[in-house]
Amino acid sequence: MTRHFVCQLEEVFDGGGVCALVDGEQVALLRVGEEVFALENRDPFSGANVMSRGLTGDLSGQLVVASPVYKQHFNLRTGRCLEDEAVTLRSWPCGVLDDRVWVESTARRGAAVRGRRRLVVVGNGMAAMRTVEELLALASDALDITVFGAEPRGNYNRILLSPLLAGDTSRGQIMLHDLAWYRERGITLHVGDPVASIDRRQRRVISRAGVIAPYDRLLLATGSDPVRLKVAGHDLPGVFTFRNLDDVDGMLEQAGRALHAVVIGGGLLGLEAASGLARHGLVVTVVHLRERVMDRQLDPEAAELLQRSMQARGIAFRLSAQTQALEGDGHVQRVRLADGSSIDADMVVVAAGITPRTALARDCGLACDRGILVDDTLQTFDPAIYAVGECVQHRGTTYGLVAPLWEQARVCAAHLAERGVARYRGSPPASQLKVSGIEVYSAGDLGRVAGAESLRYADRASGIYKRLWLKDNRLQAAVLFGDTRQAARYAELIETQQDVSAWRETLLLGDHPVSGSAA
Ligand SMILES: Cc1cc2nc3c(=O)[nH]c(=O)nc-3n(C[C@H](O)[C@H](O)[C@H](O)COP(=O)(O)OP(=O)(O)OC[C@H]3O[C@@H](n4cnc5c(N)ncnc54)[C@H](O)[C@@H]3O)c2cc1C
Repeated sequence: MTRHFVCQLEEVFDGGGVCALVDGEQVALLRVGEEVFALENRDPFSGANVMSRGLTGDLSGQLVVASPVYKQHFNLRTGRCLEDEAVTLRSWPCGVLDDRVWVESTARRGAAVRGRRRLVVVGNGMAAMRTVEELLALASDALDITVFGAEPRGNYNRILLSPLLAGDTSRGQIMLHDLAWYRERGITLHVGDPVASIDRRQRRVISRAGVIAPYDRLLLATGSDPVRLKVAGHDLPGVFTFRNLDDVDGMLEQAGRALHAVVIGGGLLGLEAASGLARHGLVVTVVHLRERVMDRQLDPEAAELLQRSMQARGIAFRLSAQTQALEGDGHVQRVRLADGSSIDADMVVVAAGITPRTALARDCGLACDRGILVDDTLQTFDPAIYAVGECVQHRGTTYGLVAPLWEQARVCAAHLAERGVARYRGSPPASQLKVSGIEVYSAGDLGRVAGAESLRYADRASGIYKRLWLKDNRLQAAVLFGDTRQAARYAELIETQQDVSAWRETLLLGDHPVSGSAA
């Protein structure tokens, strides 16, 4: 056995600790007065290497350190947990000589190999599986992975539900990971069995069917719930939301026997649903609360152009219109508006927004606001639990598009693989309508462009409209209608906030490369 001199006593502050690496293991050196103790740095309850950040003191006559995470106390001499006798931190012989702290290497008497850690993933959607893919690419053998999905199938591309509704693609083409994909990678998959509760103390999840899965790391990726209308008749047969494959199956079945459809919500999703249903020959009306369609992504001129294009395809609009009730005898038959008028409807699609799905996280005491709160590493307030996707709130923002989720997945996977230095710093909003034959793109936050100068090009005859907003020669937002070829370039300029003064006269109409120098 060898003594390692690891630091000066004065470097360990009285009442706290520092961390040292001994034989490749993290050791927490904790000081009380002139005495120093050496314990395993890993907190067994959270799985985080944090014990050196705990405070030391006297509790019921015992010298202890309190875990900075869940506040369990550990005896500094024995490592035993005061709250749970079954748990003991490993301890090392140590002392002070000539004001220097030493730790005796015990060369780990045999058991140095750590078993594979267990990762449990809640949610089998786009963000979850992107994170798993990134993780497999980084460290395919590091983790035993178990995935729970509420939907009774593998993972599919949710974005393509709109083309599926419109008849432009097939179910087979939208699948991303079928059941064989999980099997071949040794991933345990439970489909059609949502996780019902999380026991953070025992570090395990319990599914609705009663499956118990212990974890070392937990990843929450529960996505969003579609907003449901709080009006009479909201639950009548024939009323649909637009979120998953079952919704599309239901809509397609009903569309086969329906004549009139009403879509409530004139945002991206509502317009894609309206366009899809019109392709099946239905008479479609879009009811929208605001005075223009896609009001958060488009300026009035682009919104008007979009509305006209959709009207040319036979879709009607009722703007600034509030839904008061859905009416019908055993099945929806009409939509009643607040002004007293009504619209015939054999089916209604509600596309009025989304809410992050946080119930599971809230119930186990994780900090949530609108979404599950995460830091720049996608870690929640519990160090053993990470979260990605539409269910999270990061720096005050929640997201409803996939591009930010890809970035979150990359950063989160790096940390789950313990290769993490990457940070997620947020993403600017960008959206593209997927209605064949209508090109619409919006990037940046139009709500924040007040006071910005704007560059505008409108050629109504060719159906092209472009507008860019600049502040201090940096691009803040872009709206494109009819020609979206420069979309990626504008998105990059908004993200990088590059100064465009040298070539701003060609910014609106020039043919710029997507990346690289703009000179
Ligand atoms: C029709 C439609 C069109 C879209 N078009 C676009 C587009 O053009 N561009 C774009 O960027 N984005 C688009 N989106 C949004 C995009 O699909 C989402 O941003 C993305 O799917 C979110 O990924 P996620 O993993 O967070 O959530 P989801 O993909 O919804 O996955 C969450 C999964 O978790 C499951 N789950 C929830 N709770 C539990 C539980 N307790 N246990 C187990 N499983 C659970 C859910 O059933 C779901 O399968 C569209 C969305 C829809 C619905």
